[in-house]
Amino acid sequence: MSKTAGPSAADPKARAAWLRGEIARHDRLYYVEQRPEIADPEYDRLYRELADLEAAHPDLRTPDSPTQRVGNELKGGEGFETVAHKKPMLSLDNTYNEEEVRKFDERVKRMLEGRAPEYNVELKIDGAAVSLWYEKGLFTRGLTRGDGERGEDITRNLKTMRSIPLRLNLPEGQAAPPFIELRGEVYMPRSEFARLNKELEDQGDEGFVNPRNAAAGSIKMKDPGEVAKRRLRIFVHTTGAFEGLDCKRHSEFLKLAAVWGLPTVPETQVCANIDEAIAHIKLWEHKRGGFDFDTDGMVVKVDRLDQQDQLGVTSKSYRFGIAYKYQPEQVETVVEDIEVQVGKTGVLTPRARFKPVFASGTTVTYASLHNQSQIEEKDIRIGDHVIIEKAGEIIPQVVRVVAAKRSGGEKVFKMPDECPVCKGRIEHREIERKVDKERTRVVKTSWCVNPNCPARYRERVIYFASRGCMDIEDLGEKLVDKLIAKGMVKDPADLYDLTREQLLSLERMGEKTADNLLKRLEESKKNDLARLLAALNMPHVGERNAELLSEHFGTLEALRAATMEDFDQVQGVGPIMAQAVFDYFRDAREKALVDRLVASGLNTRSLTAETRKAAVAAGGAFAGKTFVLTGTLTKFKRSEAEKMIKDRGGKTSGSVSKKTDYVLAGEEAGSKLDKAKELGVKVISESDFEALLT
Ligand SMILES: [Zn+2]
Repeated sequence: MSKTAGPSAADPKARAAWLRGEIARHDRLYYVEQRPEIADPEYDRLYRELADLEAAHPDLRTPDSPTQRVGNELKGGEGFETVAHKKPMLSLDNTYNEEEVRKFDERVKRMLEGRAPEYNVELKIDGAAVSLWYEKGLFTRGLTRGDGERGEDITRNLKTMRSIPLRLNLPEGQAAPPFIELRGEVYMPRSEFARLNKELEDQGDEGFVNPRNAAAGSIKMKDPGEVAKRRLRIFVHTTGAFEGLDCKRHSEFLKLAAVWGLPTVPETQVCANIDEAIAHIKLWEHKRGGFDFDTDGMVVKVDRLDQQDQLGVTSKSYRFGIAYKYQPEQVETVVEDIEVQVGKTGVLTPRARFKPVFASGTTVTYASLHNQSQIEEKDIRIGDHVIIEKAGEIIPQVVRVVAAKRSGGEKVFKMPDECPVCKGRIEHREIERKVDKERTRVVKTSWCVNPNCPARYRERVIYFASRGCMDIEDLGEKLVDKLIAKGMVKDPADLYDLTREQLLSLERMGEKTADNLLKRLEESKKNDLARLLAALNMPHVGERNAELLSEHFGTLEALRAATMEDFDQVQGVGPIMAQAVFDYFRDAREKALVDRLVASGLNTRSLTAETRKAAVAAGGAFAGKTFVLTGTLTKFKRSEAEKMIKDRGGKTSGSVSKKTDYVLAGEEAGSKLDKAKELGVKVISESDFEALLT
């Protein structure tokens, strides 16, 4: 698809509507139909075009626009509001044996007075239960299960998930139901779970026990921006209350939900009787390991919705279905050794090496033991017989030691005092970790404190070149390993000293590849200051904060010279981050690194800040004008309004004075509005403001 597809940019309204539709369609192709038509960069381009269009024409921004997925963070102390479910959100009874599934069938038939029901059998997704409300087709609310009667309102977090359509995709001629509650399971894909846990372990954190805990923890984070980074997914599996929908069967509902653009629970089967249902359950017992999500069983549900209603509820669960859970496969093996790995931050992670054993579809040789505390708690010794299982069928872990099989020759493991990679000193720390709201536990962790440890700079170089940072596409992990092994690269600044000859001396390095890499490195020198700041890996400074610093200070030189007082002036930068950045530029080693990068000719200016300066110089629409924003803006976010003012050469201030040119008043504007009237400052509405923008 080319960039020129769709209505022309001369008609912004039609163009924006087309872009919204295209983005929603690509989300559906990716998440529901699993046959994406475009690659990520192309998707990003559509998204950026829409965002730019909306910034220029705020009235084109609709509640179902994909740009509205990430909202603001909940403020400290603020919790999630609870809201009553329209229909109670109960669970189903669980069982591990076939006999009870048959008893369930007998009970159902008895209650339906002898009529034999059809059953819908589907995979049981191991995630966090949520309820989605759609009103006239628009996603308006998302709740956790809570106590079954009331759930927590996590709408803002669920909105960040691209697998949840903001508006139902209704086929031609089909009207949106006035209201419907869709129930489903938010889950974390296994691949994402592995990535997240590695990241947490690198920070010395423990990581989550399994993808379910990770999903449940993620949907309740306070910052939707952080939730978005967790790449959660959803499967819809039930309907709650609904109005104006002619749907008679559960299986029919699932088909409808899929058409609407929601991922529905996979591998469903309508079975004529309980024997067929049990056969379907058995079929999947050994096949389920192949998915990128956790399933812990299968759910059997009466298919007809009127029969479901007739069966009613017990005190805590619905009678129309039962969940059959598979037993996790546990196997015994021997711990041959406990090895230690060093991560990006220098944290040491012990892992057990087993006598290879076959479990849940693959041969298992290693399992992370996380840290010294976990080893002590489970009392795992080298030479022990242990029972292992795969968490979520994929990540092996030690369940327990078979103490009865000890011979007395087992060795107690102790974290080394010397780094296995650089032989440097290891520091052992006891860190307090939160277990839940009230409880904490002390975790023993170990770190290599040598800043020159190769294990650490490898990760740093990779991070420096990554996408959100300097984006040096041709510099993959394998190449970094080669460069480090040859001693050509120790830190990110060394990248810019690489020569063609050096590169060509590497194994399997062709001329074309070498030239491409050098070209990429050269191009990266022109990157905006914000990218360089993100790439430096300063504590607390990710992509967003790097932008804030870059735009405020304008140049690297100004940022390096900034005093602690200077940081007070930067909006969005708190004292902890300010101190960390201040300290960073005073660390001798980091200072030398930055000096070398500058000497290599990297751009040290903020291109955004310069665009603004140019706007002022050129007499932009708001050149020399000062704005005060007050009240609640409804057409755009406050930060966006501020950006629009600055981009046009204007300034914003927090208080009204005689020097104020305009007070932009939203809804419920208070004392600032009074002050403006008192001083005779011009007050404008959001519509007035929009008129000024063009
Ligand atoms: Zn080391």
